[in-house]
Amino acid sequence: MLTRRSMLRLAGGAGASLLSSTRLAKAFQEVFQAAELPAGMQAVATACGVCDSNCGVQAILQDGVLRFLGGLPGDADGGGGGLCAKGGSGIGLVYDPDRLKYPMKRTNPEKGIGVDPGWERITWTEALDTIAARFSNAISQYGAESLLVISRPAPDLWMRLLNALGVVNRVDHLDECFLTNRILQRYCTGPMTWAHDFANSKFILLFGWDLLAKAKLVFARGIVQAKANGAKVVCFNPQYSATARFADEWYPIRPGSDLAVALAMIHVLLEENLYNQQFVANYTNFPEYESAIRAHFAPYTPEWAELQSEVPAAAIRRLAREFGTMGPAIVPVHKKTLAANYTNATQLVHAIMILNILAGTVDRPGGRYEARKIDIPAVDAVYPRPAYPPKTGRRVDGKDRLPLVLEDGGGLFSTLADGILNKYPGM
Ligand code: SF4
Repeated sequence: MLTRRSMLRLAGGAGASLLSSTRLAKAFQEVFQAAELPAGMQAVATACGVCDSNCGVQAILQDGVLRFLGGLPGDADGGGGGLCAKGGSGIGLVYDPDRLKYPMKRTNPEKGIGVDPGWERITWTEALDTIAARFSNAISQYGAESLLVISRPAPDLWMRLLNALGVVNRVDHLDECFLTNRILQRYCTGPMTWAHDFANSKFILLFGWDLLAKAKLVFARGIVQAKANGAKVVCFNPQYSATARFADEWYPIRPGSDLAVALAMIHVLLEENLYNQQFVANYTNFPEYESAIRAHFAPYTPEWAELQSEVPAAAIRRLAREFGTMGPAIVPVHKKTLAANYTNATQLVHAIMILNILAGTVDRPGGRYEARKIDIPAVDAVYPRPAYPPKTGRRVDGKDRLPLVLEDGGGLFSTLADGILNKYPGM
């Protein structure tokens, strides 16, 4: 029988994690010294948690009450000493009257518009024991396959709990977010990265990503700095977005046809040998398959792409030449590259990766760079993984039909309904 205590034990390593985060917080506070403030006021250095850019924050407290959130001076790689509107409004998360601060239990099973759920406050002990008992009952009656968990794969401690329970089916929002990006990047260039050296880019080509309006200051600051440094920004987007207005050239491309333009640009780069030949020769298998690759891209002419995308062939050809000759060029790719969630997303992200490789800017100045590891011990190194029970249940999440997703570990909503109906007919 699972209990609150055993659940906490399964999640082991929490102490190690907290310890390292406390040390980090102390080091952080020492580096970013608080400014002089009037008596009763206190400045605390922390990080914004409203989105996962985690910009540095300076929180101003008065007699223990949070009064103001501002950017952290010296946060060169995050918000640059500023916060976006969402981050600056984060104070509302703390004092919102509807903020969930403790476990609540629904007491009215009746559901409907205007029906009071009858929420009642319960203790953490009761909450954890209730959840553990439900898990335990489901596993003993129907097996671990009866548990469907909707969660992200992080943190590692959470996955430990799921593995210890023998959970087979897990779905999460990555499916509609950046799963395509992550898998394609992994198989083309290495681990997924959203790190872009915009400051040194000279040509930035955007397929849909509205960097300036979609928050995440680090990217918005990057592209603004790039343009100040003389970079050219080209934007393909059916919408006249904030980034489209900011760009040097904007093309209101036909929705879903970004792939055609990307393929045509590859065609021109290969046909006119405008790619970074040294980089491609050193780091890819292009020399081995050169004739087959050239033959593959030969049909994707700018004229063909114009028919698909309504972007003039002459513009595609000129942009490809500029991409190949203006200096470090980059096609940023991100979950917010809206085109990368279209039905041809896999092929588009693949084409974008090829463009970056042909530019020779993968992990090079002005391009996408791979994350460098810092020396913080992983939880596994501090607290070795326990032995997990074998996973024996049936999959209903559909990952078994998609080997790359299965290997990646991401969740899948899109195949879940079919999976349940096929494996449990009549349900
Ligand atoms: S971009 Fe905005 S919301 Fe995201 S971490 Fe920075 S300040 Fe917070």
